[in-house]
Amino acid sequence: MSQTKAYAAKSATTPLVPFSFERRDLRDNDVNIDILYCGVCHSDIHVAESDWGPSEYPVVPGHEIVGRVTDIGNKVSKYKVGDLVGVGCMVDSCQTCSSCKQDLEQYCENSFVGTYGFKDLIDGTLTYGGYSDHIVVREEFVLSIPEALDASKAAPLLCAGVTTYSPLRHYGVKAGDKVGILGMGGLGHMGVKFAKALGAEVTIFTRSESKIAEAKKQGADHVIVSTDDAQMQAAAMNFDFLLDTIPVQHDLNPYLNCLKVDGMHILVGLIEPMEPAVHAANLVLKRRILTGSLIGGIAETQEVLDFCAEHNIECDAEMINIQDINDSYKRMKKGDVKYRFIIDMKSLKN
Ligand code: NDP
Ligand code: ZN
Repeated sequence: MSQTKAYAAKSATTPLVPFSFERRDLRDNDVNIDILYCGVCHSDIHVAESDWGPSEYPVVPGHEIVGRVTDIGNKVSKYKVGDLVGVGCMVDSCQTCSSCKQDLEQYCENSFVGTYGFKDLIDGTLTYGGYSDHIVVREEFVLSIPEALDASKAAPLLCAGVTTYSPLRHYGVKAGDKVGILGMGGLGHMGVKFAKALGAEVTIFTRSESKIAEAKKQGADHVIVSTDDAQMQAAAMNFDFLLDTIPVQHDLNPYLNCLKVDGMHILVGLIEPMEPAVHAANLVLKRRILTGSLIGGIAETQEVLDFCAEHNIECDAEMINIQDINDSYKRMKKGDVKYRFIIDMKSLKN
């Protein structure tokens, strides 16, 4: 067992605090990773604060992890000591169901094991994530970080990156398609970059007029201020795809109305009950499709990292110390981050 320094939420209503615990000894197929950087995803807040139902505490969040391999189990063949690697939202799955066999571990029929807040399949212990100095993960769930990527900005690709890339690819976004990205935060700003790289005409829907100039800098062709009814109405029947990263309940109807016939609204942000209700007419009368998407499989996560290295895509990051994490959560809840906080894990040693 190895002593691990971390930050944890001890309850839904108290701030994250320093916490230490023991990581397991290396199994034959495990890799030990010293964590250099960890991105801060809005899901970290949802789980720390029990937004998705009661979480099991303590919660050590963090599923956008970049670090160096410092030790390997006897049978590890993919990685060696010194490699720069990543860990995303999953650390295990059954590997035998039809989803796992199709490289869709995120849809594992026996449930994947999340990087934090899940039970390890072998010993049943609670998983603890990347707000920690090191992590032990089976090699099949470890990603290789391409040399061409800036290691200090690569972490968000492991969740925000793959979560936006996967549905755009799966649903076949192509050159000339009109794509709207709802919410310009960590996921949203990556969605703009991927949709542009696929040749789409991209519009950001944001509540914040202050993000208009930024959105254009990110490569968005147009910006719609979603709180302006006139702008929303002018966008009616205009879009092939909407990628919805808004993290709270919101009225989908005005957005559905922006889709063409056969247009598709893809939820990635919302996993709570949908309120207010979707008017079925907004789907039926235009054969529109409402769907959702969860992160991406391990092979696809590697594909995203390689795609970003090839296309020079990186996340816009604001580096923080772990001691700033509670302020960062407050700022994220206000939409005040450009566009992903990344924790420099050296600060945990202070
Ligand atoms: P961020 O906080 O970085 O960004 C969310 C953006 O949504 C904000 O910047 C803001 O954009 C907009 N927004 C926030 N609050 C509201 C509101 N009340 N009404 C309308 N718009 C709002 O979050 P992330 O990008 O990290 O995550 C987004 C969501 O995606 C979270 O719910 C997260 O849990 C989920 N998620 C889902 C995954 C999946 O696999 N499906 C994987 C990872 C995350 P603006 O200021 O431009 O309006
Ligand atoms: Zn995430």
